[in-house]
Amino acid sequence: QIPVVTVDGPSGVGKGTLCESLAKHLQWHLLDSGAIYRVLALSAINQHIPLDNETALAKHALTLPLEFKTTENGVIVLLNRIDVSSNIRSQEIGEAASKVAPLAKVREALLKRQRDFRTAPGLVADGRDMGTVVFEDAPVKIFLDASAQARAERRMKQLQQKGICAKFGEILQEITQRDERDRNRTIAPLRPAADAFVIDSTDLSIEEVFDQALGVIKS
Ligand code: C5P
Repeated sequence: QIPVVTVDGPSGVGKGTLCESLAKHLQWHLLDSGAIYRVLALSAINQHIPLDNETALAKHALTLPLEFKTTENGVIVLLNRIDVSSNIRSQEIGEAASKVAPLAKVREALLKRQRDFRTAPGLVADGRDMGTVVFEDAPVKIFLDASAQARAERRMKQLQQKGICAKFGEILQEITQRDERDRNRTIAPLRPAADAFVIDSTDLSIEEVFDQALGVIKS
């Protein structure tokens, strides 16, 4: 069996940063499953598919012309061979992704596509249900958590560094609402797998989180 490390957790907890570092360190492939939901949402909007039309969205998901490409500047996401890496990071697409994500047929349609990323020498899979659904048999499962307050503070800092002016209260509210939606949905709700190792990063630095995760993988 090709090894896979799953990293699940709420929005803005630093899964992306951790998974990129782990994949680089281990020289393994990386699956950013959230990007798949984001590209699906973007493509559906472009094609005028209503975000509540489960059957049409699931059909679209099966043939979604999505590609991840590794470049000198990291992994880029292509839709119809066009680089949409920055387009899919907008707040609007994040919202749209979290509307299509609770639809059972959509998740079902994306299962095989995600599992196909498990190729030699190994995979680091970043998402919400990597350890509970997609790679239920993964030998190493990590659940990365942090308080909503800490995640909002980090997001605020990131935005400030980019010169974007944002209101803390609004960021916190958005994070709390997204959490609620991801945790309370009936299909694949966000929760740690029974055999997951939980890392609470509220008071940890990026390096400390990385070291703990690597410790779990090597144990
Ligand atoms: O992780 P990211 O913020 O890019 O994910 C966008 C949205 O896609 C999340 O809010 C979540 O609703 C959904 N998602 C999911 N399952 C995954 C990854 C993301 O439902 N494995």
